Amino acid sequence: MTGRVGGWSTYNIPSIPSLVRRGIFRSPFSAILRRTVLVTLLMVSILPGTAGAQDLPGYKPILWEYLETICAFGPRPPGSHGHRMLQAYIKAVGGKYADEVREQPFTFQKGNNPPVSMMNIELVFHGASRKRPILLGTHYDTRPFADSETDPYSWKFPILGANDGGSGTAVLLALAQYLHAHPPVRPVRLVFFDGEDYGVKFSSDYFLGSKHYAAQLNKKDRGEWPYCVLIIDMVGDKELEIARETYSHENASWLLKMIVESAQKLKVTQFLTQPKHTVQDDHLPFIEIGVPAALLIDFDYPYWHTLQDTLDKCSPESLFAVFSVVVDAMKKI
Ligand SMILES: [Zn+2]
Repeated sequence: MTGRVGGWSTYNIPSIPSLVRRGIFRSPFSAILRRTVLVTLLMVSILPGTAGAQDLPGYKPILWEYLETICAFGPRPPGSHGHRMLQAYIKAVGGKYADEVREQPFTFQKGNNPPVSMMNIELVFHGASRKRPILLGTHYDTRPFADSETDPYSWKFPILGANDGGSGTAVLLALAQYLHAHPPVRPVRLVFFDGEDYGVKFSSDYFLGSKHYAAQLNKKDRGEWPYCVLIIDMVGDKELEIARETYSHENASWLLKMIVESAQKLKVTQFLTQPKHTVQDDHLPFIEIGVPAALLIDFDYPYWHTLQDTLDKCSPESLFAVFSVVVDAMKKI
């Protein structure tokens, strides 16, 4: 079922009886819809174990299972099969756990090249209060070319992006599951941005999804803006060390302070208190329009934009460290 809500389309997973009742499974003219439904059912069947509400440590294997599933789709650059599979998977997880799933499609066109379809996906948790929402974001696309490889021959291949694209997506999917079991007071939006890593080096064709999202936001009343934005990217590295990123430090130091305090309380040692890198990422379009925004990233990752950004470089412990700190910090905002 698809309906329009303020430029977004709302997506709900239909129940099987309702589809049978409406004759969708039998109709010879609905092959595409039938395939979409079957893909959705397949996606639901590969969700991690979900019996009952998990205690926090129970999310460690769940996080890893999400990352394994994401990587099993292969490289996920816009236009690829893996990209479409992951979109369906995010929507299936959202259909199961979120109050609402919204799609924000847009196209990107460079010069005379054919336009490329992209889509941000937003999982909405209404919360128990009427406060402005917290926006937690990540990019789910992966880089179409391994242009940090030393051998130019390898540049034409897409990366798997276990860490870069995969890890943040796994954390947000597990957060959807957590927020379903522990409904938040302040509303939460989990936003999966497209086209973050699409641009060639030194171009401005990065952060396409977050730029589009922020531009749409800028047309709305400020009362509808998120209270703050927290972007999660490259947090799966086995040797995880998250320092204060400079733009975040300058624009949302209060948010970073809350996060570091949560890490100290939980004795999570992967968070450092001092600034280190200055990283351009999906937080910048929000900072530019005036929303406080911070980025959690470990930019010391030797496999960045190479074919070696694979599952074996990541660990469940790193994903869980970030997940548990974000869960704790979110309750204080
Ligand atoms: Zn990247």
